[in-house]
Amino acid sequence: MTKIRKAYKFRLKTNIDIEQKLNHYCGAARFLWNKSLAMNMDRLEKGYSLLWYDELAYWTTVWKRSEEYGFLSECPSQILQQKLRDLDRAFRDGFDRRQPLKRIPVFKKKGRGDSIRFPQGFRIENKRLFLPKIGWVGFYKSCAIVGKVKNITLSRRGVKWFASVQVEQSVEIGRHPSSTEIGVDAGVKCFAAFSDGTLVEGIHSFRKHEEKLAGEQRKLARKKKGSQNWKKQKLKISKLHQTIANVRSDFLHKLSTEISKNHAKVYVEDLRIRNMSASAKGTLEAPGRSVRAKSGLNKSILDQGWYELRRQLDYKLQWQGGMLAEVDSRYTSQRCSCCGYTAKGNRPSQAVFKCQECGHEEHADVNAAKNVLTVGQTGMVCGSNRSSGRKQELAGTRKEVLPVAS
Ligand SMILES: [Zn+2]
Repeated sequence: MTKIRKAYKFRLKTNIDIEQKLNHYCGAARFLWNKSLAMNMDRLEKGYSLLWYDELAYWTTVWKRSEEYGFLSECPSQILQQKLRDLDRAFRDGFDRRQPLKRIPVFKKKGRGDSIRFPQGFRIENKRLFLPKIGWVGFYKSCAIVGKVKNITLSRRGVKWFASVQVEQSVEIGRHPSSTEIGVDAGVKCFAAFSDGTLVEGIHSFRKHEEKLAGEQRKLARKKKGSQNWKKQKLKISKLHQTIANVRSDFLHKLSTEISKNHAKVYVEDLRIRNMSASAKGTLEAPGRSVRAKSGLNKSILDQGWYELRRQLDYKLQWQGGMLAEVDSRYTSQRCSCCGYTAKGNRPSQAVFKCQECGHEEHADVNAAKNVLTVGQTGMVCGSNRSSGRKQELAGTRKEVLPVAS
């Protein structure tokens, strides 16, 4: 039996009273995050070591007793402790070489991704849950909760509040029902390409919404800040943000479920090789210079959707008894999946692959996905690399993705 963690998300039935408390606690938690983060960023710049949970928890008790920050003591302690743990984790992830896409934590803005977590003291009864210092709150129970409840996270999206109930389940992970293996590559011309020739478009549905969002934001800019119309427009935008997030989440979950059901082993490119800017952060022991300036860099480079897809594939494949494996993807876009000839000239355009050696012609992203599969299965490149006149040996580093703890 293997223990896995899952989360159920439900919309809460809040009233003004509950919302006020939730906003208040979120505010305190956000304040603590930002204050602790500011201290650590300052230390990083000066070359000092970071403050971790224990030190920050000590400072929190000092602040609680002070006049200036005394408002922190109105917030349940466990919420503040959980925020500090999150910050701890965020710093560790940010400096973790195995997670090149994770960034150094950033400051939280009011109303953006507000959330608080209760690790204990809660109760769930039928269609309502009890939260310390808040009381009973009803929720729209869209499905049954299976497993042992470990914690509850409350978050706000727009004007709605949600409870994410994390549970631990014991499951029997058997053999994957399928025995096929597939290579998946982040497409240039589409969201993803599979080695079997499947192309996943998908991205257009967000484009449409994003264009609309840009339009609404221009409208907001023309309105007087703080006016009634400005507030209305602001609400409209926040709802649109929510719609986009829902569409994206739906799309990614459907895609990752389908892939993980149909294939036992999925190969993707190793992002550590692709992501060059990760080195700017340095390591935990030796943080890079001017971390603050460079911490925002990754965002523009990485495609968050693609990263989320990999994360989902990783755990969904594990549940099914399958596996996600990362492969060295250097030159996969320039290499012919038929004969192995590798050259820049094989790529006459972004969308087309045409081998100069054997004439093989294919959708460029599918060709790359086939190479990802080949590298994953054989640990090496097929064919000989005549372009450089020597045997290519670079592709052998196959790394199995380890199960994520907790
Ligand atoms: Zn060829």
